[in-house]
Amino acid sequence: DRISQGLARSRERFTEQMNVLLDRGPDLDDDFWDGLEETLILADIGGPAAFDIVEGLRDTATRKALPDAYAVLDLLNERMASSFAEGGEEIFGGEPAVVLFVGINGAGKTTTVGKLAKEATDAGRTVLLGSADTFRAAAIEQLEEWARRANVEICTRERGSDPASVCYDTLERAESKGADLVLIDTAGRLHTSADLMRELEKVVNVVRKRSSLPVYTVLVIDATTGQNGMQQAKEFDRALKLDGVIVTKLDGTAKGGIALAVSHELDLPILKIGVGEGLDDLKDFDAHEFARAFVG
Ligand code: GDP
Repeated sequence: DRISQGLARSRERFTEQMNVLLDRGPDLDDDFWDGLEETLILADIGGPAAFDIVEGLRDTATRKALPDAYAVLDLLNERMASSFAEGGEEIFGGEPAVVLFVGINGAGKTTTVGKLAKEATDAGRTVLLGSADTFRAAAIEQLEEWARRANVEICTRERGSDPASVCYDTLERAESKGADLVLIDTAGRLHTSADLMRELEKVVNVVRKRSSLPVYTVLVIDATTGQNGMQQAKEFDRALKLDGVIVTKLDGTAKGGIALAVSHELDLPILKIGVGEGLDDLKDFDAHEFARAFVG
């Protein structure tokens, strides 16, 4: 299936590293546990998640008197799955909502908003888009193109306008037309990163104050950026108190473990994953499915 295909590069690299570990022998000694932790860290899942997984497996190995490394590795994907933060079902689950999309340029925000708009419209929902990236004219045009494709209404203002005003307009329009899903794209780059965070904080605060529907802030990150994605996630979460994460471009990288690193370290649910550029390459996230596709 698409998720297994999308994670092929991550799985290949992980399997290679796992084979190196198993070549040392199947004994459950300290070397094995250290080696397993190292292998997980090399797979981009981050120190804290790697530690958590190894401690959990070690505990089970003792309690159940597991015979060897193979018996432990049979349990790896389940253990990995349970290291993802849970929740977030309400955000794209069909309930009325306003969702703000944040993330740096190129992460895949606009594409993701477009795909979600199409999906929700097809499901019979009334969708409204807002383009609060008033810094780049191309961003507005790109979202307009997606709005046409998904046949949904969009609120924009000319380049250089106040993004908070676009949000006001969007929420007002949503109320008057009875939209039950409002998707707002935001800027991914300003003159400096501090400017960006200040602007986004203002946008988030305005929307939270003004909206009669529940408001969620969702970060979109590009998996190919690996540990940089982790740094971005920390910065955005500190400034905006995120509700969830969408990880894109898993198909183009062996660094797919970053989804687990971000979810575990920031205690944020992964809401969707992008496994290609096509309209239906934005997939629902399921931790068990992801872990199985990752471990192989
Ligand atoms: P934005 O600047 O954050 O709005 O990013 P865009 O939505 O413009 O996306 C940047 C590029 O990434 C575009 O060429 C998209 O087609 C591409 N892209 C987005 N998601 C995925 C994905 O899941 N897989 C792949 N391979 N490409 C993606």
